[in-house]
Amino acid sequence: MSTQVLEPAPQRPLKKPVVRRSTPDRSQIIRRTAQWIFVALNAWIGIQFYLWVRWYERGGAGWQVARPAGVEGWLPIAGLMNLKYFLATGHVPPIHPAAMFLLIAFLLMSVLAKKAFCAWLCPVGTLSEYLWKFGRKVFGRNLRTPRWLDIPLRGLRYLLMGFFVYIIASMSAEALAGFMLSPYGMVADVKMLNFFRTISLTGAIVLGVLALLSMLVENFWCRYLCPYGALMGLVSLVSPLKIRRDPEACIDCGKCARVCPSHLAVDKLVQIRSVECSACMACVAACPVEHGLQFAALPRKSASVAERWRGRIAGPGAVAAMLAVFFLGMVFAARATGHWRMRLPQSVYMQLVPNANQVSHPGMDGPDSTMKGVR
Ligand code: SF4
Ligand code: SF4
Repeated sequence: MSTQVLEPAPQRPLKKPVVRRSTPDRSQIIRRTAQWIFVALNAWIGIQFYLWVRWYERGGAGWQVARPAGVEGWLPIAGLMNLKYFLATGHVPPIHPAAMFLLIAFLLMSVLAKKAFCAWLCPVGTLSEYLWKFGRKVFGRNLRTPRWLDIPLRGLRYLLMGFFVYIIASMSAEALAGFMLSPYGMVADVKMLNFFRTISLTGAIVLGVLALLSMLVENFWCRYLCPYGALMGLVSLVSPLKIRRDPEACIDCGKCARVCPSHLAVDKLVQIRSVECSACMACVAACPVEHGLQFAALPRKSASVAERWRGRIAGPGAVAAMLAVFFLGMVFAARATGHWRMRLPQSVYMQLVPNANQVSHPGMDGPDSTMKGVR
């Protein structure tokens, strides 16, 4: 008779109690509302700016509207130049001052709430998001860039950002003022409008290729090419609010990582520090359990899950309110101090706006080239 030695059965990991969310997530509805409000605001600004330009192009005939200062939100390089000028001299520059105030507002948003500007407000980010969602519908899926290509491509936007920051940082306050006060600096906004109004075949092809790539790859422009997003991403590293996972509440379902448009390992990390996180909260919306994932400040040290996160979570309503406070607060501050609008005499606009395409970059063809073609 043989004696059988019984081996202890391998222990199964204890199943975690699943605490389902008590309230439905509204983050994506609130974020989409913020996105469309900003799209509508930019469309309004665009139309008003177009009408303003046309009035000067018609020699003062037709419907005269005021120049919308908000158009300067589309001049991030002017904003950066003006910010450097302001820091160097203590004076708000007279040309495109709103560009600086808006840049400061967007930077403050990144300091506190990751790259929320990109996912909640930026119209280009909104367009990118809808393009990849549309592409997923058309092609059935989006493509995932292989890692060996993804990493060097992600470096492109930092090269672009570094180039602009280096050039601007190396310019003296006098040189910055000289640039912004040149005809080129004054009508940089009109030149931007003209680029899209009279787009060349090459420009149209480039935009078409970018649109196609944006349909194939999630946030192609934002992920690989946008220098503005690169700057916001670097600033967002200091943000106290982050996506944070509670390993005790998390049931390791992996839903959060699957929906993340930045392909971050949300289901493995306890906090997302990455410069790629745009605080879109898609991961939070996908999480099925209470307190599994949240956009929050550092949790309390407490044994209970609920207690850990009490008073630490920034819900979607709070994020939207925070962005509105920074944006409207900065516009109000600029208006209240008389620095929102650029005040150039009408005669200067009358001379420059219709001839914006002939105004060349200062320094490109010598010091007198800036007035070439302007009579
Ligand atoms: S980690 Fe979450 S909030 Fe950040 S980008 Fe991914 S899905 Fe959006
Ligand atoms: S969605 Fe992510 S955080 Fe939430 S339970 Fe699943 S793995 Fe955990």
